[in-house]
Amino acid sequence: MPQATLIDGKAIATELRAGIAAEVAAIKAQRGLVPGLHVVLVGDDPASRVYVASKERLAVEAGMTSVAHRLPADTSQAELLAKLAELNADDSVDGILVQLPLPKHLDTGAVIDAIDPAKDVDGLHPINAGRLAGGKNGLVPCTPLGSMLLLKHVLPSLSGLEAVVIGRSELVGRPVAQLLLQADCTVTIAHSRTRDLASVVRRADIVIAAVGRPHFVKADWIKPGATIIDVGINRMPDGKLAGDVDFAEAVAVAGAITPVPGGVGPMTIACLLRNTLTAFKARRG
Ligand code: NAP
Repeated sequence: MPQATLIDGKAIATELRAGIAAEVAAIKAQRGLVPGLHVVLVGDDPASRVYVASKERLAVEAGMTSVAHRLPADTSQAELLAKLAELNADDSVDGILVQLPLPKHLDTGAVIDAIDPAKDVDGLHPINAGRLAGGKNGLVPCTPLGSMLLLKHVLPSLSGLEAVVIGRSELVGRPVAQLLLQADCTVTIAHSRTRDLASVVRRADIVIAAVGRPHFVKADWIKPGATIIDVGINRMPDGKLAGDVDFAEAVAVAGAITPVPGGVGPMTIACLLRNTLTAFKARRG
């Protein structure tokens, strides 16, 4: 039985971070400046604390300034907006990321709207989302950007390929569909109301699964030789992580596939660093 090529997100992300670190070192040597990433964490959600700590660590490893602003769970909307205003006004701050989800009493949309779009390294501000929808340059959400870099690793040209994105979230499905369109794919966005999802997926040369349901995409939905990017991260009862694709079966049908863990996950933080460097260059020349 043929086996798909494994797309090694861990190795590709390590290479991407090394390239960013080299560029940051060169900027530091020439100009005595380094990009600054600031992450704002409200409350003490254990998973968010782990994510913020790894963002901080990898930003430092890349030679950037990295600051985590840890605010108490009862921080008010006004206090959080005041913190963002302070970071927006500080010229040494290149990237601002508010770790989601926020505690329920806070208005996430208003918080994202308050980030300077030029420093919005999560790419979620409506200005950046609008730029992406219009095919213009801007800061692009990290997981979609990472998914595209993985795709390009195995498919040098995406032009004319049929891509099916399963999921239409603001964070993953919609932006990745826009990026595929920019890369000249023919794009279908599927979601929970899509009729006969299996036959929609079967016509895809590229499948992006961003559903949040373990082993949801079955091997017999996949066109032989297709490239599969599995964005899903699902915690199983045994504590292990599983993707949205039935990897054990799909690997015999697909041409190339990302594992979970070790696929899209490591690319997300690497792309956050890339966005911070992009924001630095756009703002500070
Ligand atoms: P989300 O906001 O919950 O969106 C899930 C999408 O899946 C929705 O658009 C939903 O459709 C669709 N869906 C749900 N059930 C479906 C079904 N039966 N058939 C077809 N579509 C269905 O999730 P998300 O934030 O996009 O995240 C998706 C997955 O990616 C999660 O596992 C998440 O943990 C993971 N993730 C990973 C990373 C990473 O770094 N690797 C980053 C972000 C997210 P409707 O819109 O119709 O409800």
